[in-house]
Amino acid sequence: MDPTGCSFLTPSRRPPPEGRGTQGTPFRGESDGQGRIDLKGMTPEQLTAFAVAHGMRPFRGQQLAEWIYRHGVEDFAVMTNIARVDREELARIAMVSRLAVRGEEVSADGTRKFLFELHDGRTVETVLIPDEDRRTLCISTQVGCAMGCTFCLTARQGLERDLSAGEIVDQLLQVQRLTGERVTNVVFMGMGEPLHNYHGTVRAVRIFTDARAFDLSTRRVTVSTAGLLPQIEAALQEPDLKFALAVSLNATTDALRDQIMPLNRRYPIQALLAMVKRFNRARRDMAFIEYVLLAGVNDSDEDAHRLARLLKPVRCKVNLIPYNAVEGGDYRRPDDARVAAFREILLNAGYTVLTRRRRGADIRAACGQLRQAERLPRRLTERQEPVA
Ligand code: SAH
Repeated sequence: MDPTGCSFLTPSRRPPPEGRGTQGTPFRGESDGQGRIDLKGMTPEQLTAFAVAHGMRPFRGQQLAEWIYRHGVEDFAVMTNIARVDREELARIAMVSRLAVRGEEVSADGTRKFLFELHDGRTVETVLIPDEDRRTLCISTQVGCAMGCTFCLTARQGLERDLSAGEIVDQLLQVQRLTGERVTNVVFMGMGEPLHNYHGTVRAVRIFTDARAFDLSTRRVTVSTAGLLPQIEAALQEPDLKFALAVSLNATTDALRDQIMPLNRRYPIQALLAMVKRFNRARRDMAFIEYVLLAGVNDSDEDAHRLARLLKPVRCKVNLIPYNAVEGGDYRRPDDARVAAFREILLNAGYTVLTRRRRGADIRAACGQLRQAERLPRRLTERQEPVA
């Protein structure tokens, strides 16, 4: 028995580096039933290695990255700047997968939630949050989650499996295809703990930020974590890997955090904050600290003062998230006056504070409300699409 109650995390060692797939054997991605390799989910470097390993010129890798990620093309026949012989060879040995869209809901505030079906019939949700000048996509990295946070609906499902890098980046490609608009920001705040699916997340971040693929600014790609310290450390050691970091703190004492986020028993608050500090220094950036406000649990003036004291040595911005109701949940959302008072204390202590608006709550698209589909009421509009 694991005394920390975090046996789901074994092995707890730092994951081996993801690397860039250029040395040694070429990267072999997921494959379909006919043994063809899925190119979606490979980084531009991995695509180059793949092309070279199959006797093609190295620049084919770059062309493939542009077709797949910039233009959203899945059919090799359309990739007209690639020589016909190479296209035929690619069609024989490779394929470009696509998530099936199974539903879509639109909130009164413009937030849109998409339900995607994976090749094994499991489903994940993705949320598009349009704002004046940005379109932020909240993506999922796992089916379910192993972290067990008591206030989050995804946690109740347990962990079913990790998403592949292709399944992660395709959420963006399919949303762009369905809406006809470019996504400007990506937040890894959907279903799952991104750093628990370390390799899938790291590869997806590389593809989102690579100039030859999606070319999103590294400041517009935010990975949110419940606090997997060895994985944060590992990410800092990766060559050419950059993203913005958000850490879900949610409590100001270890006693409470142990209770609502079991991961704290392994990586307590002081160790977590030391890692945030290290990240900030290494990246010359300021991490976000997320704090879910649970009425009567962690939202008192005393909590706010304690939070201000705790964060003093760490340069960070604070993101307050008033709790979103979860079916059968034991918690309550604080009223607006309580949220304002909590925020005021942090502002007076000199912090930059963002209070997350409750986007998409009417379609259960808000933080902590995402879940596996079959347990969803059939409110999602059926949307049948041919599976590529
Ligand atoms: N596993 C990652 C990312 C997913 S959750 C993480 O823990 O950071 C994204 C954010 O939503 C986290 O800050 C989490 O604490 C918060 N959250 C989860 N359930 C919530 C709920 N019911 N109401 C409000 N925020 C919630």
